[in-house]
Amino acid sequence: MDLFDGRRRRLLQLAGVSPAIALMGPACAQQSGGSGMNAEGQPMPARVRLPSAPQEKGRSDSVGVAIVGLGGFALNQMMPSFARAGRAHIAGLVSGNAEKAKRVGDAYGVPEDARYSYETFDQIASDERIEAVYIVLPNGLHADWTEKAFAAGKHVLCEKPMALSSEECERMMAAARAADRKLMVAYRCHFEPYNLKAMALMDDEAVGAIRLIRTEQHYVMGPTSPRENWRANRALAGRGPLEDYGIYGLQSALYLSNEMPHTIQAYTQQPDNDPRFEDIVASVQTQMQFPSGAVAQLSTSYDTQGANRVMVQGRAGTLEMDPATSYEGIQMSLRRGRSVEALNPGDTGTQFAAQLDHLADAIRDNVDLRTPGAMGLRDLRLIEAIYAAAETGAPVGLLPDGRLKPGNG
Ligand code: NAD
Repeated sequence: MDLFDGRRRRLLQLAGVSPAIALMGPACAQQSGGSGMNAEGQPMPARVRLPSAPQEKGRSDSVGVAIVGLGGFALNQMMPSFARAGRAHIAGLVSGNAEKAKRVGDAYGVPEDARYSYETFDQIASDERIEAVYIVLPNGLHADWTEKAFAAGKHVLCEKPMALSSEECERMMAAARAADRKLMVAYRCHFEPYNLKAMALMDDEAVGAIRLIRTEQHYVMGPTSPRENWRANRALAGRGPLEDYGIYGLQSALYLSNEMPHTIQAYTQQPDNDPRFEDIVASVQTQMQFPSGAVAQLSTSYDTQGANRVMVQGRAGTLEMDPATSYEGIQMSLRRGRSVEALNPGDTGTQFAAQLDHLADAIRDNVDLRTPGAMGLRDLRLIEAIYAAAETGAPVGLLPDGRLKPGNG
C-alpha cells in the first residue's frame, strides 16, 4: 500500500526544485566546494552485535549496497536490517578503519575485495556487485560523498539530514541528474507503520481540521566537545539538534499537516561556558503557521530530558504518539470526545528493511521515491528559514517551496 498519495505528492511538488535547478548539469555537480572536513576512520562503536553467520542475498534481483561509514547507526540498526529486506543486500563496505572493516566484513560475509577505504572509494565505479551506496557518515560529509558516489555511477541512499545547506542539496540533486541515478533520503518514518497510519488518519480527517501540532525531540548530550564528538561540531553536524533529532518533528509536522508553512518564528539557545555548546546551539524552538490556520510548535534540544512526542490536535480529536519516531516501541492513541483508542498498526521494526526495499523498487521498477532529494532540499530550506528567523528574532515569510520570501530580515 503506497500512502504517498496525491495530496502528499502535491506537497512535495509544491516544495520541489525550481526549473533553474533542474537545468544545472554536470558542471554544477563538479563544484564540490567541500565541507573542509575529511572522512576519517573511527573505532568500533560500543555494544555492537555482529551477526554470527553471513546474511543471505534474498531475491535474484536484489540490489547490492555498499555501506559508507561503519558507525553506531549503520552497525546497530541498518546493517542487521538487511536480513529482513527482500530486495537489497550488503555488497560492500567503505571504512577508514581497516580492523573494523575486517571484523564487520567477515561477520557480514562481504568479500575482501569489496571492502574499500575512503582513499580507494573511487574504485567502486568498476565494481558491478555494488549498485547503490548508503551514506551514513556525519552530516557534514553527506554532500561530498553523495557526489563521489554519483561520479562512480551508483545510486544513493543518504542519511538525514540530506546535507547542511540547501545549496549542498541542490548540488547533490544536480549530480544525481547528471549521473541518471536515484537519490533517496533515509527518512525511515515514511516506511514505519505507526507514522504511515498517522498520515492515513490525517488524510481521513480523523481529528477534524488540524489546529495545533506539537513535536518534542529532546535528550541530554553527555559531557563532550566539538573535538570529541561530531554531533557537537558545527562543520560536521550543522547548527544543532534540529538537523539531527528535531528534523523528525519538522518532518512529522509536514507529513501530518500536509501543508507548507507560510511563516516561521524561532528561538535558539546557546549556553555560555559549556563545551558541548561551544560550536552548536543547545535548543531550537520553532513556531510554523500554515495556510489552513494550523500552527506547529516544534521543540528540540540536546539539553532537556529525553522526549520524542508528536501531538496533533484538531477540531474533533487529538492524535498522540509517544514515543513517536523511535526504532521500536512507538505508541499511538486517538482521542475523539470521551473515547480514547490505542492503535497498533504494525511492527515498528520493519521500517529499516521497508526503506531498503523501497530503494530497490525505485532502482528496479522505477517507482517514484517517497523520500527523494527534493524532500531533503525542502527540509534544508525550512531549517535555514528557522535559523534565519531565530537570528532576526522576527517572523519570516516563506515562499511555497520553503525559500525565504524576498525582503525578509
Ligand atoms: P557515529 O558517530 O556512530 O558514526 C559515524 C561514522 O562515520 C563513524 O563511525 C565513522 O565510521 C564514519 N566517519 C567518517 N569520517 C568521520 C569523521 N570525520 N568523524 C566521525 N565519524 C566519521 O554516527 P551515527 O549515529 O551512526 O550517524 C551517522 C549518520 O546517520 C548521521 O548522518 C546521522 O544523522 C544518521 N543517523 C540516522 C538515524 C536514523 O534513525 N535514520 C539514526 C542515527 C543516525
